[in-house]
Amino acid sequence: MAEELKCRICGANFSKEHTHCPNCLSGRHEECDGTLEPIAVWVKQDDTWDIILRCRLCGEIVTEAVCQDDNPIKIMSIASKPIASPPFPIEKLNEMTDLMGGNGTIDGYYYDKRK
Ligand SMILES: [Zn+2]
Ligand SMILES: [Zn+2]
Repeated sequence: MAEELKCRICGANFSKEHTHCPNCLSGRHEECDGTLEPIAVWVKQDDTWDIILRCRLCGEIVTEAVCQDDNPIKIMSIASKPIASPPFPIEKLNEMTDLMGGNGTIDGYYYDKRK
């Protein structure tokens, strides 16, 4: 029988081969026994996803690969956090939209050339 761990955050049971809880994505920091709190999702260049976790006790930041069993809704909620509450003034969004509009114009330019 596979050894099971109990998540100290949400109480879910999960097998010991997981380095973090598949339900709430929290983990345990080996070095200081602190709770690792998921703070961000990192989509790497090869399209694999990593979770970025920060230890509540010592503040160290670690990354862990997303497992197949990980709760996709929880991953999405972490990934969308900065969009819901951006770490910069909301007025900056206009500048970003302008930049995207600029790309659109370049696409239109190539489209015209093909005619
Ligand atoms: Zn959990
Ligand atoms: Zn720690």
